[in-house]
Amino acid sequence: MSIKINTKIIKLMKYYSYINHKFFYSNKAINRYDFKDYSIKADIQKELEKLKLDISKIGNCELKNNATNLVFADGNPNSKILIIGEGPGANEDIEGLPFVGRAGKLLDKMLGSIGLNRKNVYITNVVNYRPPENRKPTELEINRYLPFLFKHIEIINPKILILLGSTALNAIIGDKVVISKARGKWYKKKIGSLIIDVIPSFHPAFLMRQPEQKKLAWVDLKMVREKIKNLKIKIV
Ligand code: URA
Repeated sequence: MSIKINTKIIKLMKYYSYINHKFFYSNKAINRYDFKDYSIKADIQKELEKLKLDISKIGNCELKNNATNLVFADGNPNSKILIIGEGPGANEDIEGLPFVGRAGKLLDKMLGSIGLNRKNVYITNVVNYRPPENRKPTELEINRYLPFLFKHIEIINPKILILLGSTALNAIIGDKVVISKARGKWYKKKIGSLIIDVIPSFHPAFLMRQPEQKKLAWVDLKMVREKIKNLKIKIV
């Protein structure tokens, strides 16, 4: 019995030293920010407000009809790092902010492990209203929100795009790719006049279900850290 436990503990210790332990143990409070907390150029602020208004006018949409709030974005609109998730869950729907539930807490820890936080990244989702029963958004729904997402990306003008999970991957890169194969690679994506470095990675909700995959997510995070350095992106 004790031999069994010791082997297990040694395995765990090796595992935790292999991945970044901050991923698991950091319990720092999460700070949230409003656009108004940042000195954003007036035209960007205006464009974001107009985009939010345009999204709110979507008609004939099951997502919107069943949701409480439009979930637009969180973080710093001046950031050069844009993170895209799938769509709001129950907590996000109540608070009107992306990634505020359990997956969001893990996302904050993941960001923290490479020196990032919500003050220096910008976060949004493929769809802006919660899919009922937390189902995946349908292709039709994704296509309805995609023009808004592209506009959102153009307004923020990021240098790095992090796609969390298959919905964001398929919406931005295309539906021929699967997340297990696409993660850990850099893609160049042209959006409007922008050419952006894009990296897909696992969605935090998936990582909560399959924690053994965190070691691969850590590889992806280190790639982001390296890219930030290479592109000389200032993290404030
Ligand atoms: N999952 C997402 O993809 N987005 C959120 O905002 C919350 C959970």
